[in-house]
Amino acid sequence: MNARVGAAKRDAEARGETFYPGASRIHLAAFPPKERWDDWVELDSRSWPKRSERRYMLVPTTCFNCESACGLLAYVDRDTLGVRKFEGNPEHPGSRGRNCAKGPATINQVTDPDRVLYPLKRAGARGMGKWVRCSWDEALDDIAARIRRAIVEERENEIMYHVGRPGEDGFTERVLAAWGVDGHNSHTNICSSGGRFGYAAWMGYDRPSPDHANASVILLVSSHLESGHYFNPHAQRVIEGKEKGARLIVVDVRLSNTASKADYWLPPVPGSEAALLLAIANHIVATKHYDREFVRRWWNWDEYLRAQHVATAPSFEAFEDELARLYASYTFEYAERETGIPAATLREVAEVVASAGTRLSTHTWRSAAAGNLGGWQVSRCLFLLNALLGAVATEGGVFPNAWNKFVPRPIYEPPHPEHWNELTWPQEYPLALNEMSFLLPHLLEDGRGKLEVYFSRVYNPVWTNPNGFAWIEMFAHPSKVGLHVALTPTWSETAFFADYVLPMGHGSERHDLHSYETHDAQWVGFRQPVLRAARERLGERVNDTRAVNPGEVWEENEFWIELSWRVDPDGALGIRKYFESKERPGTKLGVDEYYAYIFEHSIPGLPERAAAEGLTPLAYMRRYGAFEIEKKIGELHEAPVPSAELAESTYDERRRAFSAAPPVRGPNIVPQPSPRDAEGRRSIGIQIDGTTLRGFPTPSRKLEFYSSTLAEWGWPEYAIPEYIPSHVHPSKLGEGGMVLVATFRLPTQIHTRSANAKWLDEIAHTNPLWVNPVDAKRLGDVTTGDLLRVKTETGYFVLRAWVTEGIRPGVVACSHHMGRWRLDANGHRLMSAVVRLEHEGDQWDMHHVAGVSPFESTDPDTKRIWWSDVGVHQNLTFAVHPDPISGMHCWHQAVTVTRAHDGDLNGDISVDTEKARAVYRRWLQLTRPAREHSPDGTRRPYWMLRPLKPLPDAFKLSTVS
Ligand code: SF4
Repeated sequence: MNARVGAAKRDAEARGETFYPGASRIHLAAFPPKERWDDWVELDSRSWPKRSERRYMLVPTTCFNCESACGLLAYVDRDTLGVRKFEGNPEHPGSRGRNCAKGPATINQVTDPDRVLYPLKRAGARGMGKWVRCSWDEALDDIAARIRRAIVEERENEIMYHVGRPGEDGFTERVLAAWGVDGHNSHTNICSSGGRFGYAAWMGYDRPSPDHANASVILLVSSHLESGHYFNPHAQRVIEGKEKGARLIVVDVRLSNTASKADYWLPPVPGSEAALLLAIANHIVATKHYDREFVRRWWNWDEYLRAQHVATAPSFEAFEDELARLYASYTFEYAERETGIPAATLREVAEVVASAGTRLSTHTWRSAAAGNLGGWQVSRCLFLLNALLGAVATEGGVFPNAWNKFVPRPIYEPPHPEHWNELTWPQEYPLALNEMSFLLPHLLEDGRGKLEVYFSRVYNPVWTNPNGFAWIEMFAHPSKVGLHVALTPTWSETAFFADYVLPMGHGSERHDLHSYETHDAQWVGFRQPVLRAARERLGERVNDTRAVNPGEVWEENEFWIELSWRVDPDGALGIRKYFESKERPGTKLGVDEYYAYIFEHSIPGLPERAAAEGLTPLAYMRRYGAFEIEKKIGELHEAPVPSAELAESTYDERRRAFSAAPPVRGPNIVPQPSPRDAEGRRSIGIQIDGTTLRGFPTPSRKLEFYSSTLAEWGWPEYAIPEYIPSHVHPSKLGEGGMVLVATFRLPTQIHTRSANAKWLDEIAHTNPLWVNPVDAKRLGDVTTGDLLRVKTETGYFVLRAWVTEGIRPGVVACSHHMGRWRLDANGHRLMSAVVRLEHEGDQWDMHHVAGVSPFESTDPDTKRIWWSDVGVHQNLTFAVHPDPISGMHCWHQAVTVTRAHDGDLNGDISVDTEKARAVYRRWLQLTRPAREHSPDGTRRPYWMLRPLKPLPDAFKLSTVS
């Protein structure tokens, strides 16, 4: 023992602590104490058995590899000033120092030998794979000039920003608002809008925040921890709940990792989930297990009776009678017929759910709600159980998401656009919760508009969306898409069809601010370029993140500020003022000032906490990466409306609701969607038993068992929670038909940015077809590894079988995470096959030319690749299935499965895009457009959430968009 270690041992013993002899003097299971983050010492594992010490600065950031934004600590080597690894940040309230496999794999993304490091400009025809390096200035000037021209010529709707993983709370929406452009497009309608719609119909907020850790029963309709949101933060709290005795029920057609931990795994016929939930609801109602007081006070039962039972006196007792009648047909025997799960099992599960009382935490996100026609009723029926038991905003229950997150006010809030963009919000889908993004190629082909500038940002629609060949066809026409700018940290199938590929930073190379509903609390997380923060700790000043990032990788905040200045260099368009410094008027806003302003002015408690440590709020966030504002937010709907607000309000006798002129806003600008009347007044509260309470941001300010919005906008038959048989209901499958479940994720992969994360690729790199042994036998004694052909409405794909009892008979499943491809040497060589595309008329065929193989690069591990099969790109063979109400793409497919045909090879794809267009037209016929069904001459109910909501006049159908 050397003298220094000896002294440390004596000190530790004097303090009564256990001594650990490693360089850190801390037990390996403990986190580095924050007091030592400037100079943290660890032994270098690669030097073993020699004990050589490495000294680090630990710099926080947040993970960008899913929506959760868990905390990471970058280990910045003090000698080289390079990042050597990422571990969890114990100061982060959501993740509490823990990460899933994808968090530490950020280092793979940073050191990816194939990443895009410099701006590239197309040199041949789109998709030919010819690129030349260009300067940021050249790219910015070209893009800005086109945007400026479109704005000046009043072609604002030709500018579109299409985002996959936002990872931030509204920065880019405000950029678009400053430009006056209704150009925000998201991926949400291929992801979660089905689930969101059901929640929004109930409570005005489109996400749940379940308190799993304190629940006595946890009911998940999905694989959740793999395919839901908040993977790691929720996973740790589900396990915490289980440790305390909670019972876990998982409804999932597939034996997911989550289902494998469940007390009850219920694999229903796909699409029958709402029937299962209504049988549980019927049990709760019939056995009078529901929370009568909660239902009486917080459901809009009186509105329901007034609308649907005019002759009935509107008493709560009359409603209770009606409630019992409404769901009486959902017996366990009926549910068994629909779901294939024995009635006795369903009864047992219903009794467990009913026993939870206010400690029922539930969650659904993608899964069934994203798979089926009418899938949004799955979340509506799931939340019905919480609403019946009064398990809403209770300990162990489910909170509205916005109460468990915090969005601070930014430095500028430009007004929202005056225009309505029908390319993203077509009139056929007035209730769609998000942009009809996956219809874009069809809408452009129908002649509904064109695009001057299209940004794809951390998004890969060619690969992610259904009918990817239609996207390739769209990009082939400059008359439809004038300029395609791919903002991306890595190559993708969509970037191949861009005009500019602009390198953007990974999670440790950019600034973002975020807050998510991981538990009953409010916190703010700060993503930052860690090398910039490290240099600033050493006293350097960094004004441009490109100075510290690899190559010329930039961050988006600085990119958008610079681009906006070039769109409006003299300020004449009224844009530049939103990107100017407040401290030095007339100069460019910098990210330090942008975030310092927010941290100083908009986050309660942060300035005081920072001052206690002798730091500015910005320095505090750069040092710790997250701040918890408040724990235990509780029942905000029960909060009395302050009398000063009431004094300024007017009272609606019929609704017993108050409304006021000024919007109700504190520093937290989480949208509080409240209905407005013609004078723009917002509802602010609801009178219940003589007291005016805040309530929920719905038209009735109550939980809406009855949705007047659905009833008034053409869908009265679905105004209450109901079961809608799916487009893949057994009655629609035909002889030999099966359901393909294509929605499930792999817990160790990221949608499109993990293709070159070598650790993740080694764990999971292919997507065989899950086939039950019963079906395997029927298909001709199929065994694992055999080639199968799966035929969809528009073509087929070929892949290998995985025979497993982890899937119910009659259903096959294939993860959407795999099947990455590239046309040539450009791209992610660790996880993509080189393919040959054949195209004639509407017929497209894809064949794998080569799988993955070892290669020489800056990373010696690329010579150790042992896998070659990277799976099949099944989404190419799916047509669009837009749900006529929620707008969600209904992913499940009615398919036939056979052994592969002679000549079929693994990975083969064949698609007829004319057939895909016919399917699009068929689903379009299901809609009830605003021009025929709007009750008030508007395009969409104003109260509903909408990204970048335009000004009220733009909602009028009479306003030309
Ligand atoms: S759950 Fe995993 S991928 Fe998602 S933010 Fe956390 S560490 Fe990253």
